[in-house]
Amino acid sequence: MNIATYRRPSNLDEAYDLVVKQGAYPLGGGAWSMSVGRPIASAVDLCDLGLRYIRVEGKNIAVGAMATARDLERSSLLADVFGPLFPEALGGIAGVQVRNIVTAGGSVAGRYGFSELLVVLLALDASLVFYNDGTRPLSEYLGAPRGGAFLLEKILLPLDKKASYQGLRHAATDFPVLSVCACRARAGWRIAVGARPGVAAICPGAGASLGSTGSPGEQMALEAGRIAAGELSFGEDLRAGAEYRRSVCSVLVARAIRRISYDS
Ligand SMILES: Cc1cc2nc3c(=O)[nH]c(=O)nc-3n(C[C@H](O)[C@H](O)[C@H](O)COP(=O)(O)OP(=O)(O)OC[C@H]3O[C@@H](n4cnc5c(N)ncnc54)[C@H](O)[C@@H]3O)c2cc1C
Repeated sequence: MNIATYRRPSNLDEAYDLVVKQGAYPLGGGAWSMSVGRPIASAVDLCDLGLRYIRVEGKNIAVGAMATARDLERSSLLADVFGPLFPEALGGIAGVQVRNIVTAGGSVAGRYGFSELLVVLLALDASLVFYNDGTRPLSEYLGAPRGGAFLLEKILLPLDKKASYQGLRHAATDFPVLSVCACRARAGWRIAVGARPGVAAICPGAGASLGSTGSPGEQMALEAGRIAAGELSFGEDLRAGAEYRRSVCSVLVARAIRRISYDS
């Protein structure tokens, strides 16, 4: 990585000043920034800010921006609340060495279409806490145009949800062809689909079709899959065409719903 000026603040106020007021480049794990390879005039390493944690805060689980993919994958707290959701969603990303480096904050801030983490967080209806700049639902952040500088401090996950992840890769460690997360809460279902190849999006019609009471049967799961495939846009890249992704979407959405229904 080609960095002209490197800073490593030890408190959030200093980091905020450098990133938001002076326009310096925040570095999470640096894995993606390194692979993109653009020179960085002024980098701010966030590793000394105490943001590497996963803990209960009130009615939420708070994930610090510097928690790594591997931290999420191995967290006993997340496993107690969400079962195998995080290992199943994140365990296929590159290799363990990469997952030990890449951060939750970098994955969210980058808004990568291929991000499994974003699919899961969107289905869980996570919120983002921006240092000195309030809290916003992830869905709102993803729907807004990319704006000015910000410092993501943590991600809040509601504790009262069940969710299941399904994804398809051509080969282990490759980027996903499609990824799906279905989430059931008291208020109803949220289905998120990512790697379309655009960034993760919610399927409102599919979620609504499942109602808010009881476990959906086989026909409802299949129908929700069809609705999801019909209400999202899909595109083409070197991994798959749009119509292939649409077909895979209906299958994976139905599987994710079944998984929650059968497990409960
Ligand atoms: C070889 C390889 C394979 C991969 N395969 C996959 C895959 O299959 N699936 C998948 O989901 N991901 C994959 N990834 C991406 C990875 O999961 C991360 O999403 C990515 O590396 C970003 O995390 P990072 O910590 O490295 O971010 P960085 O590179 O440090 O930062 C990414 C962006 O976020 C900004 N940023 C970082 N932290 C903050 C913060 N706290 N506040 C504000 N802005 C911030 C940075 O300025 C930068 O713009 C892969 C990465 C690599 C290197």
